[in-house]
Amino acid sequence: MQHISVIGSGTMGNGIAHVFALAGFKVSLVDISEESLKKAIATIEKNLSRQVEKGAIDENAKKKALENLTTFNDLKSGVAEADLVVEAAIENTELKLKIFRDLDQHTKANAILASNTSSISITKIAAATARPDKVIGMHFMNPVPIMKLVEIIRGYNTTDQVTKQIMDLSVQLGKVPVEVNDYPGFVANRILMPMINEAIYSLFEGVGGVNEIDTVMKLGMAHPMGPLQLADFIGLDVCLSILRVLHDGFGNPKYAPCPLLVNMVQAGHLGVKSGSGFYKYTKGSKDLVVADQFAK
Ligand code: NAD
Repeated sequence: MQHISVIGSGTMGNGIAHVFALAGFKVSLVDISEESLKKAIATIEKNLSRQVEKGAIDENAKKKALENLTTFNDLKSGVAEADLVVEAAIENTELKLKIFRDLDQHTKANAILASNTSSISITKIAAATARPDKVIGMHFMNPVPIMKLVEIIRGYNTTDQVTKQIMDLSVQLGKVPVEVNDYPGFVANRILMPMINEAIYSLFEGVGGVNEIDTVMKLGMAHPMGPLQLADFIGLDVCLSILRVLHDGFGNPKYAPCPLLVNMVQAGHLGVKSGSGFYKYTKGSKDLVVADQFAK
C-alpha cells in the first residue's frame, strides 16, 4: 500500500493526512472547500513543527511529510491513485452514502474504502458500493497525531484479509488498532456516550453541580477530563446525534438523550465550538469556568 486519499480536511482529515504522510505514504487530501484545504496544510505544518520542537521527529522528517502531501478539490482526480481511501467528511449519512458511491466508481477496483465515521453503520455505507467486502471503519481519535487508538470496525461483509491489512497498516502508523464489530456506536461511543448522558442526567436531576460531577469522575475514576468537560470538547450536538443513533439502533429507552442536552443543543450551547456549554470558553483563557446557567 503506497497511496492514501483522505476525503475531508477538517479536524480529523488533517490529522489523518498528517500521520499517513509522516509514515511515508503519498497522501492526496481532498475537500470541496479550498479554504479548508489551506487551513489543513497550515495546521499540519504547525503540528509537525511542534513535534520537531519536542524532539519527536527531525526537520527532515517534517520536510518529507510535507512533500508527501497533495491537495485536491475534485474527488475523481484525488482518488485515482489510491490504494486506500479514508473518508472523514462531515457526519451525515446521505453525504457519506453519496461519497462512497462516487469512490466505488472512481477508485481502482482493489482499493480499500474506509470511513472515520463516529456512529454511522459501516455495513450501510458498504452497501452503497459494489465492493462491501473492501469497506471498513477506521475510527481515529481526536487529536489524531497524539491519540494512539484506532477502532477498526468490520462491516457485515468485510473480509478477514481486508481487516488484517488495515490492522497492520494502523500499526505501521504507530497506532494501536482494536478490532470491533459493526453495531450502533461500535465500542468507543457505545460506552462513552451513555456515561456522558448519565452525567448530564445527574446535573439535570440536581444530584450534583458541574464541578462536583466532573471532580468525582476525575479524582475518583482517574479520568483525565470530567464527562461534562469532555462533552463540551466533543460538541454537544455531536453527543446528541450519537445518542440518537444508539437510541434508534437498539430501540432501548436507556439510551434516550437527557432533555437538558436536547435543550442546550436547541439553544445553540454546543460546548467549546460555540463558546459555551457546561463551561464557558473565552478566547485565550485556559481557566475552566462553569457556564452562567450552572453557576451557583
Ligand atoms: P469537520 O467539520 O472538522 O470537517 C469535515 C470536512 O469535510 C470539512 O472540511 C468539509 O469541507 C469537508 N466536506 C464536506 N463535504 C465534503 C465532500 N462532499 N467531499 C469532501 N469533503 C467534504 O469534521 P470532523 O470533526 O473532522 O469529522 C469528520 C468525520 O470524523 C465525521 O464523520 C466525524 O463523525 C468523525 N469523527 C470526528 C471526531 C472528532 O472529535 N471531531 C472524532 C472521531 C471521528
